[in-house]
Amino acid sequence: SAAIELRGATRHYGPKRERVRALDNVSVVCGRGSWTAVMGPSGSGKSTLLHCAAGLEQLSSGQVHLAGKDITGASDRELTELRRRDIGFVFQNFNLVASLTAEQNVALPLKLAGVRVPTAQVREVLASVGLADRGKHRPRELSGGQQQRVAIARAMVMRPKVLFADEPTGALDSNSARQVLRLLRDMVDGAGQTIVMVTHDPAAAASADSVLFLSDGRIVDHAVAPTAREVA
Ligand code: ADP
Ligand code: ADP
Repeated sequence: SAAIELRGATRHYGPKRERVRALDNVSVVCGRGSWTAVMGPSGSGKSTLLHCAAGLEQLSSGQVHLAGKDITGASDRELTELRRRDIGFVFQNFNLVASLTAEQNVALPLKLAGVRVPTAQVREVLASVGLADRGKHRPRELSGGQQQRVAIARAMVMRPKVLFADEPTGALDSNSARQVLRLLRDMVDGAGQTIVMVTHDPAAAASADSVLFLSDGRIVDHAVAPTAREVA
């Protein structure tokens, strides 16, 4: 089955008379091992799409499958469990815990899942994002690009089936952005993980396999990114 499937996904806000359709009858399938960028103007429904696909927000109507499960109407408990086990998140502003070292930040999801944390595994993941020598540093001692790589390591340590990324390169210079995009590409090509990424960054969109364009809560275009194919 697909990694993500939305069928007639609709999400509205507010009372009936002044209802906002943040997501309006959206149907889309993201295959396993695919990387989808979601673009569109502010207010077009990108965050709502991401949150509904990730089970952070319920649909008003329609269906959503995530990581092989029908999560339409699932309980908060089931959703939290699924997110902890199978889903990773990366944010524009990294969302690292300021008081913890890079190693401790990477170990955090394992701890939360009640898994014993093998130090060697944490170090290996940090090394894979090029930060073998930064494990004892706290976020404020790292550059933005390094912090985002710690955040990616933190997502990777759980080997999530699906990674949701919200403007992952939005706060980065172009060199750091390139490094981050290369890591995301490795997750897709190497481990067959699936990525859905909201972005305004044309370089990030060009790195994805396809680009969904939203306008007023609807998909107005779904383009295969030819540049990504040629570079790959
Ligand atoms: P984007 O991420 O593309 O900027 P959003 O998904 O945040 O768009 O928002 C889509 C539409 O839904 C906007 O009109 C926004 O104002 C509205 N919206 C989003 N979240 C809420 C909410 N919690 N309550 C009311 N309206 C909301
Ligand atoms: P709990 O209810 O046990 O605190 P949450 O539902 O808050 O669990 O969080 C579970 C996972 O979902 C965490 O990994 C968290 O980072 C992520 N998460 C929670 N809220 C959001 C959000 N608004 N956007 C993206 N990820 C979120």
